[in-house]
Amino acid sequence: MKTEKLSNVVTLKKALEQAEKGNYAIGSFSPRYTDMIRPILRAGEKTQSPVIVQISQKELDRYGVTPFEVGEEFYQAIQDEKITIPAVLHLDHTKDFQVIKDAIKAGFTSVMIDASEHPFEKNAEISAEVAAYAHAKGVSVEAELGMIGTTDFIETDKDEELYTDPEEALEFVKRTNTDALAVSVGTAHGVYNVREPKVDIERLKAIRALTSVHLVLHGGSGVPSEMIQAAMKIPNGGVSKVNIATDLELSLLGALGRKERMTNAVCKQLPENQKRAGQDAVEQTVIDKISNFLNSADQAKNFKLYMKKS
Ligand SMILES: [Zn+2]
Repeated sequence: MKTEKLSNVVTLKKALEQAEKGNYAIGSFSPRYTDMIRPILRAGEKTQSPVIVQISQKELDRYGVTPFEVGEEFYQAIQDEKITIPAVLHLDHTKDFQVIKDAIKAGFTSVMIDASEHPFEKNAEISAEVAAYAHAKGVSVEAELGMIGTTDFIETDKDEELYTDPEEALEFVKRTNTDALAVSVGTAHGVYNVREPKVDIERLKAIRALTSVHLVLHGGSGVPSEMIQAAMKIPNGGVSKVNIATDLELSLLGALGRKERMTNAVCKQLPENQKRAGQDAVEQTVIDKISNFLNSADQAKNFKLYMKKS
């Protein structure tokens, strides 16, 4: 299946440009299990909101799934469910260049290189190399500067927090040519049971004042709506992508009455009625995020979709 046949599958750059103009953010939802890709797309269709479906390198390993399986299900679901809203298939936090190459081959329209564990120079060098590779293939790039913490080590493997420096962000974007930048401004991955969510709005404003790169907020699960709203509405283009993973999995596990995470294989083998209940719960959570956190409902109509890759 080829990406260019589906005019509503767009790059991250195209999606975020539109979101920034409209002062809303697009949810980057992690299904974690391939069977949870459909409910994300259905929620987007029902609310007429653009959506991003994402999975990280660490999630691919943890849940036992390949970029090819994710790509196959994503494109199949779009066709089966007659999805018309703009959709992005995004590779979240990835360190390994080979995984990035595989994802691009599998039809991902956006990839994130996370070299944030390295000092500035090395991070910029690695991110620039990935950006040049991806751009040549018509794929968008997200990179990370500063370090975003984690509480559950599912998406990333380090709980170190280092806020993004605005001056460094300017230099980083110049050197890497990245389309989107994951900034560290107080949010963290996982459940906020060990720290309070916060968003440093002044820092976001300072970064925006220096660069026009699209701003991405990670660790969106459990962040109060007012904080997300404020981050979206900073002058000259606020946060236009918010990553949400944990809340989707919590709603899935809740519907199944499970405490433990599964593997993708175990999820696939769930009895149909259970799987359906899990999918419905995920769909409902995505609809709630779109309607009450991201303000992205009814925005699909503002996209100009051409019959070619953007
Ligand atoms: Zn993240």
